[in-house]
Amino acid sequence: MDEYDRKAIEEKWQNNWEERKLYHFDKASDKPVYSIDNPPRYASGPLHVGHATHYTHIDFAGRYRWQRGFNVLFPLCVDVNGMPIEVNVEKAHGIRMRDTPRQEFIRMCKEFADKNIDSIVNQFKILGCCMDPSVFYRTDADYYRRLTQITFIRLYDRGLIYKGLAPVNWCPRCGTALADAEVEYQDRETKLNYVHFGVEGQDEDVIVATTRPELICTCQLAAVSPKDEAKAHLVGKKLITPIYGREVEVVADDKVDMDFGTGLVMICSIGDKDDLEWIYRYDLTIEAGIDGTGRMTSIAGDYKGMEISEAKAAIVEDLDKNGLLSKQEDLQQSVGACWRCHTPIEFLQVPQWFLKTLDAKEDVLRLADELNWFPEFMKIRLEDWVNSLNRDWVISRQRYFATPIPIWECNSCGDIVLAKEEDCYIDPTATPPPSEVCPECGEKLTGCEDVFDTWMDSSISPLFISFWEREPELFQKVFPTSLRPQSHDIIRTWAFYTLLRSNYLTGQRPWNDIMIDGFILGPDGRPMHASLGNIIDPLELLEEYGSDAWRYYSATVSLGEDSAIQVKEVVHGQRFCTKLWNMERFMSRFVKGQMSVPVEELRTPDKWILTQYSRMVEEVTEHYDTFQFDKAVRKIEAFAWHVLADHYIEMVKHREDDALCYTMYEIGLGIIKLLAPITPHICDEIYEQVYKEHDGAESVTISQWPEPILTDDDEEEKGELVKDIISAVRNWKSEKGLALSTEIELVEVIGPKVQYLLGCEEDIAATLKTKDILLKEEADVVEVPTAIKPVHAVIGPHFREHAKEISDKLTNLAPEELAPALETGELSIQLSNGDTVKIEKHMVDIVKTPMLDGKAVHSLTVGDLLVLIGE
Ligand SMILES: [Zn+2]
Ligand SMILES: [Zn+2]
Repeated sequence: MDEYDRKAIEEKWQNNWEERKLYHFDKASDKPVYSIDNPPRYASGPLHVGHATHYTHIDFAGRYRWQRGFNVLFPLCVDVNGMPIEVNVEKAHGIRMRDTPRQEFIRMCKEFADKNIDSIVNQFKILGCCMDPSVFYRTDADYYRRLTQITFIRLYDRGLIYKGLAPVNWCPRCGTALADAEVEYQDRETKLNYVHFGVEGQDEDVIVATTRPELICTCQLAAVSPKDEAKAHLVGKKLITPIYGREVEVVADDKVDMDFGTGLVMICSIGDKDDLEWIYRYDLTIEAGIDGTGRMTSIAGDYKGMEISEAKAAIVEDLDKNGLLSKQEDLQQSVGACWRCHTPIEFLQVPQWFLKTLDAKEDVLRLADELNWFPEFMKIRLEDWVNSLNRDWVISRQRYFATPIPIWECNSCGDIVLAKEEDCYIDPTATPPPSEVCPECGEKLTGCEDVFDTWMDSSISPLFISFWEREPELFQKVFPTSLRPQSHDIIRTWAFYTLLRSNYLTGQRPWNDIMIDGFILGPDGRPMHASLGNIIDPLELLEEYGSDAWRYYSATVSLGEDSAIQVKEVVHGQRFCTKLWNMERFMSRFVKGQMSVPVEELRTPDKWILTQYSRMVEEVTEHYDTFQFDKAVRKIEAFAWHVLADHYIEMVKHREDDALCYTMYEIGLGIIKLLAPITPHICDEIYEQVYKEHDGAESVTISQWPEPILTDDDEEEKGELVKDIISAVRNWKSEKGLALSTEIELVEVIGPKVQYLLGCEEDIAATLKTKDILLKEEADVVEVPTAIKPVHAVIGPHFREHAKEISDKLTNLAPEELAPALETGELSIQLSNGDTVKIEKHMVDIVKTPMLDGKAVHSLTVGDLLVLIGE
């Protein structure tokens, strides 16, 4: 093998895989299909670390299935619909959608997306992803939108879609309705305004606290808490709104919090969710004070035409001027906002298209229950969301760049003409209706200008990729698809809507497994954001450390957990690759190809490593099956470095026999195969240089997954003991500062069960460079006292001024003479002053040395065994 040239290798294989069309789905194949409902990447922004991690996770799953012999369907795909692109185009060109001609704006969006798609495809390539370009799709293509429109027509025909006038979440900035799932909650600082309201027939005012003074124009009711005795007298009376002078009744309502503000609230249509509830409870009419573009309507009187914030400032000023504002307080408030542009949402009464959702709750929960969730705890998030739903899904949006709703509406009677399925894809704003005039009243028809919520497109992705409505035989083979990978933030949208649509259109679950990923945070553990300066560009890391290093890092990220990016794991990934290369290079010296060696020929260390290897293969396979890539990579790494390299390779370096070559080949190849889904570039290069001619696959990435080879518990236990004896002696050598290759005269292993190791003497001796090795049940060794050490803590206090003299004498006397006398308690020492003192056992330490045939040896304990080393 050559040197490891990381850059050249990665480029080589990325081009090679592409040129050989290695990962193309084969429609004609009889192999079982593994299909991945890959999240189409938004064509609207740069690659961030979250993408780079999640898409490599998905890639691990795909590559693993190729090696398991599946015909893998893993489409390369991009999402080119909806607001993110529109918002980007508005920003890039400094324009506003509604001031730009519709078709012109759509053209600009498409142009923007096209430019991004090339770089997205290239980014997937340098990440080493094996997505299949032969089943490429983009969600704005006619072939995709056609299916969205067909599903609409079918659901409409079944009475599951209706047009309704209902309060919807509305983003005044984007000028469109939003689904509940598209509303994000943010904490904001706002002002609580204490405003004077008159009381009918009284001189005295009351104070209402409100954060929305601009909505006083729509105030229809006021309320106090039924527990509020101080204000009980107001119930049933009428208040007079400031500025507008409208009479509104006061009611007692449980929902009023008497501790908030003054405990007296005004009820408007519609400021927030509470208002909505009150409107239904008291059967109020909805008065729109704000229009779809976020400006005040004629109801607001003098403030008509102002933007919301402008109107708020103006009315506060007017109230103040007229002495109607008693005070203002700062208030922290949680406000619903548009998930795209973060503008606070309003509730508007707008005609919209709805897909019945509430009726299907039970069905969706049943399908969710049929799925395998990885990790399991993510399922509860979907269940909670479904259980909390209280409105049908608003599927229409008032935007331009999305799939048009395929209908024409009568200007006069409101009747609706649907497009024909065979005419889809169709843009009703640019195509005449199937019948020239309204079939009901004969008046003119107008193409619907509303478009679909982008989730209407993406929630049929599993149907699209399984050739639904195009190739019925393939659909039978592919659907339900095998896997939906996605991140946890879109469980309530993408996962939920897909289950809902699949239920309506097929009655089946859309996938078998769902794999949910967490977020990748900045190095400081906070979400990455330009203002925090904690953005890490994955492209820079890929450039510096390479794709395999990045993929190694991705593998260490646990599924489903939010985690701070660990650049040190990317660096470690690069080191991992270098180590793998060097180890495989060493092992390749022994590779002679596939061999069959009778089990009897295998030596204990071979059976030991093959057993450990086989167990590792089983566990790693299980981890891949359950998408626990972090556990898989850690297990392979621990085996390769800490079992194989540290011990086995050291144990067998001296051998050249067939058993060794067989073992080296099987394990060396097995490791490459197990790692191929994670670090495919380096693995394919090693495979090509060492194993390909023997193993025979075109690429390790589509070669057969390794199987366990043998498990032999006895031999494993024996091998473990051999390994422990060898490491104990090697440690002893390095502690003594001896080279590991230093020869030693003798190793004797002693213990009652030592016969167990018969046959392993040669392995131990050769590795330890021992001239002679003996296994004995009992030791011939004698322990000879070789030194006597006075215990000063005892001798000092006991003999006081004579202590030093006694210590010196004890140290200088021959230990072999002192020891027997000590044992019998008859050791006396004569002092220089003529006195004789008696030395007791506890006053000295006797150091004993094991002696074998009159020579000193060193002793080590390994489990129950005693190991003697003669230098
Ligand atoms: Zn918005
Ligand atoms: Zn009509």
